[in-house]
Amino acid sequence: MNIDTIFEKIIRREIPAKIVYEDDFCLAFHDIQPQAPIHILLIPKKKIQDLFSLQKEDQALIGHLMECIPEIAKKLGIREFRLISNCGSSAGQSIFYLHFHLLGGREFSWPPG
Ligand code: 5GP
Repeated sequence: MNIDTIFEKIIRREIPAKIVYEDDFCLAFHDIQPQAPIHILLIPKKKIQDLFSLQKEDQALIGHLMECIPEIAKKLGIREFRLISNCGSSAGQSIFYLHFHLLGGREFSWPPG
C-alpha cells in the first residue's frame, strides 16, 4: 500500500504551503501549527518514511539536507535553533514521511516533553 502523505501533496503543490526553500532534492516550508516563532519543516523530495528507512544510497541526500539547515536558518535570521526528527508515533511522529523540524526564535528547555 502506498498512500500519499500531506507532504507529497505539498511537493506536488496540491496543498498550499509557505515555502522558504526548494531545490531539486528538498523542500522547506512553515509548519501549519508552529511551536516556536520560527518552525520550518524540511523534507527530501524522495519519499522516505523515517530514519530507519534510510538506505546507503541516501547518504548524500541526507548530507545535503543537513547542509541546507543552517542556510535556511540564516535566511530566516536565526543563528540558534533546535533540529528535531520524530521517529515513530511514541516519539511524536504523526506524518510518516521523513522530515526535520527547525525551531527557533525562542528559548527551549531540556529535556523535551
Ligand atoms: P511530526 O508530528 O510527524 O513530527 O510532524 C508533523 C508536522 O507537520 C506537525 O508539526 C504538523 O503541525 C505539521 N503539519 C501537519 N499537516 C500540515 C500541513 O498541511 N501543512 C503544514 N505546513 N504542516 C503540517
